[in-house]
Amino acid sequence: MDVKIYDNEEKRIIYMDADIVTALIAAANMPYYFPKEALKAQIILARTHLAKKIKILGGEGCCINQEADICKKCLYFLDEKDLKIMWGSDFLERWNYINSLVSETSNKIVTINGKPIMPIFHKACGGSTENSENILGYSISYLRKTYCEYCKNNLESITNIDISVDEIEEALGTRTPIISWEKGPQIKGFIENEERDTEGRIKSIKIGDKNFKGQEIIEKLGISSTKFGWKPKVITFESKGFGDGLGMCQFGAKVMAQEGKKAEEILKMYFTGVNIDILQQYEPLKPLHGRKILIDPGNGVKINEEYYGRDTLLQISFKIKELLSDLGADIYLTRESNVFCSMQMKAEQVKLLNPDFYIGINCDYEKNKQLAGTKIFHFRGDIESHLLAESIFEKLKECTKLVQRGIKIAELSLFKEIKVNALLIELGYLSNEHDKSEIESIQGIENISYAVAEGIKNFYQKK
Ligand SMILES: [Zn+2]
Ligand SMILES: [Zn+2]
Repeated sequence: MDVKIYDNEEKRIIYMDADIVTALIAAANMPYYFPKEALKAQIILARTHLAKKIKILGGEGCCINQEADICKKCLYFLDEKDLKIMWGSDFLERWNYINSLVSETSNKIVTINGKPIMPIFHKACGGSTENSENILGYSISYLRKTYCEYCKNNLESITNIDISVDEIEEALGTRTPIISWEKGPQIKGFIENEERDTEGRIKSIKIGDKNFKGQEIIEKLGISSTKFGWKPKVITFESKGFGDGLGMCQFGAKVMAQEGKKAEEILKMYFTGVNIDILQQYEPLKPLHGRKILIDPGNGVKINEEYYGRDTLLQISFKIKELLSDLGADIYLTRESNVFCSMQMKAEQVKLLNPDFYIGINCDYEKNKQLAGTKIFHFRGDIESHLLAESIFEKLKECTKLVQRGIKIAELSLFKEIKVNALLIELGYLSNEHDKSEIESIQGIENISYAVAEGIKNFYQKK
């Protein structure tokens, strides 16, 4: 299989065999002298990254050129020219070695739910890797905190750096006390318990683990008077680990390989619950494969014992179902005909299906005919639903002329009843002429359905 690479300098697309590109990526990201199985784990990650990018495999493609699969900006690799500079006269020997390891990994990639994972790694974790939400702001099932025994006592990953107080103040925008002979800041465990007489002379002070008289200090340190103060000038910071701590810890991988562990074991240690698949047999699954969503076409608005909009909401929901099913999702509707569906029936369906999302679609009606626009509600603290709401709003903005009234928190009894991520989209006001035509017209139904489906797709593709 060929990879289409966009050359950022020459501004053209070049084609290269996927195995060669895999070797170029791996060689750029791990030193060639690392143990064999660690290198193989890195190679499998490199190939996984390619699988995630290659467009004919359903990948996201290059960040700059739409025709291409990758460029140096969206996937870090070194080309032959760079490697020749880095390895000098040993280039050929090392290049052949890396390529022999590429063959040994026989087209393996790391997947979850049939899709290649985000193959993240870092130099050394310092004792444990991170949960994705702490770094990326959202949860990824396979990026969980893993205790890495190998790094716990890894002195190679301890770094000391001296930073002057002036630099700290500038970088953080903070202030430390100005120095004066009358006082100095207490620094716990270092300078504390100062005692002064009424003249401001130091009578006694504790420095480090010992107490001193003022006179002793000035003699030993050569200070000109017992009227003295202090402030720190340089602070030494000691840190453990290198990088953000997400995904595979390369130092840990190195030690695991030295202890005789295989590449697959290393990968499964740092990526929770993943599978190892073969790229060539790997059939790209549709982007929403394995996602289960329950769509609830609302009952519409009740005016004088009659419900308005109920049929339109059903049509929109059918259309969304069709679009999302084409993308591989399992979509269920709370009702499939023009009947009333009670809250109890909805809650029971949620319990029965346990979907990834419940998405209610409804509309409003107000006496004030000026009121217009879309609102999306979710339960307090439901971050996933908030992100999905943002993604849907983004598309609604692009595809419809509905005014956006924002994402709101709602304490709806249905939200409290069901234990899944839940959204309620109030499309607009049927009492408003503009909204009514945006929602009820043939084109309106198309636009809204497309926007909601695309919003859902984009939300999942960012994961
Ligand atoms: Zn790119
Ligand atoms: Zn580690």
